[in-house]
Amino acid sequence: MKLAVIGTGYVGLVSGTCFAETGNQVMCVDIDENKINRLKSGKLTIYEPGLQVLFERNIKQERLLFTTDLEEAVKDAQIIFLALPTPPGEDGSADLSYVLGVAEQLGKIITDYKVIVDKSTVPVGTAERVEAAIAKNAKTEFDVVSNPEFLREGVAVDDFMKPDRVVVGTSSDRAKKVMEKLYNPYVRQGNPVIFMDERSAEMTKYAANSYLATRISFMNEIANICELVGANVDFVRKGMGSDNRIGQRFLFAGVGYGGSCFPKDVQALERTANENKYEFKILSSVMKVNELQKVVMVDKIKSFYGEDLTGKHFAMWGLAFKPNTDDMRDAPSRALMEELWKSGAKVQAYDPEAMHECERIYAERTDLRLCRSREEAVEGADALVICTEWKTFRTVEPEWLKQSLNYPIVVDGRNLYDPLAMSSAGIIYYAIGRGLKFAG
Ligand code: NAD
Repeated sequence: MKLAVIGTGYVGLVSGTCFAETGNQVMCVDIDENKINRLKSGKLTIYEPGLQVLFERNIKQERLLFTTDLEEAVKDAQIIFLALPTPPGEDGSADLSYVLGVAEQLGKIITDYKVIVDKSTVPVGTAERVEAAIAKNAKTEFDVVSNPEFLREGVAVDDFMKPDRVVVGTSSDRAKKVMEKLYNPYVRQGNPVIFMDERSAEMTKYAANSYLATRISFMNEIANICELVGANVDFVRKGMGSDNRIGQRFLFAGVGYGGSCFPKDVQALERTANENKYEFKILSSVMKVNELQKVVMVDKIKSFYGEDLTGKHFAMWGLAFKPNTDDMRDAPSRALMEELWKSGAKVQAYDPEAMHECERIYAERTDLRLCRSREEAVEGADALVICTEWKTFRTVEPEWLKQSLNYPIVVDGRNLYDPLAMSSAGIIYYAIGRGLKFAG
């Protein structure tokens, strides 16, 4: 089939590449000329495990093409995907200007039947608004389908090629047949394509992300109580997660959720509830807990050094909002660094993939030093702060850490190390939900 993907960011690039991998002809379009030029020259614009091989193979076989010309991209396409940004507006609701703007343009361009698929995360009722925006100018038949994307950055290719499920919202039999054919290669092992109405599909995405965010905030509160009562959240997690009504995943306490999806989607669902005169009490608390959790490690640092951190240097391991991505959108590391800077401290940071992104975001900061390795970051620091659970941080010699740091403090926001091993080496080790501290 011939496809167009409008918006070539994380979702658009991964979806476009994975659709090409099963034999479709895909043209990805973006308004960002630099991005398209880079992709055309065979260079990826994001870091995502497994993407490079698929990207190169499909470019070589001319199934994956890039352009800035919307008309060229959609002219021959049977299916047009919208993978456009839906950032939070000032009031927390999703900003639909990108999606509706492109929908209006499409109405003027399309000349034969198209299935137009919304892959962006959009509030309930958006499919109808997209349909109206296209219909304003369209002289041909078309269907609008809601097909929310559930891929996770860091394992996006795997998630796309072998999805747990595909959700498709449509009331058109014609569009349903097209979508069935498109997704058939991805669900050969029996994972379902779940058809429903557009509104339910839109709600499914928000409900799923908000539920996962709720689990994280819930476990962070359990961790905070564990510290007060002298319990260990890691044992509690294992004990809870072994109950198959609960399951092991998304039960890790840490420095709060971040990234480009959870914060904005939780906020947008709360906003949808408010607009419908419903107070979504749980979600308001989920957000409040998360904001506090992001800076819980600064509180730990201040409990040791006091409020004024002027002259102190902190090593930061991990900047991406989670491992295996270079994405720092709404990353807890940012809230943490900004709190440290506010208190007068300097940061020396290292991340295996997000250094260029950090440089782009904080180009102006003189109180941030970007380091080439985890070793360089800890050298002479007054404490090590761990924000992202990259594999490369999981093994460390406590004696080496003690020698490298100016003062032997480790504030571990991901509970990576054995508290006893740390304290036996003389390190003052602060973790999340494992008792207040294990002093050496
Ligand atoms: P992104 O910012 O990485 O990519 C969006 C792209 O759209 C950018 O490259 C931008 O230049 C381009 N764009 C903007 N306006 C355009 C226009 N008029 N024409 C063509 N291109 C245009 O965003 P993303 O992370 O890929 O997210 C896209 C949507 O998918 C959002 O609604 C998001 O919530 C949702 N989503 C994201 C993820 C994720 O893990 N990132 C997962 C599931 C769903």
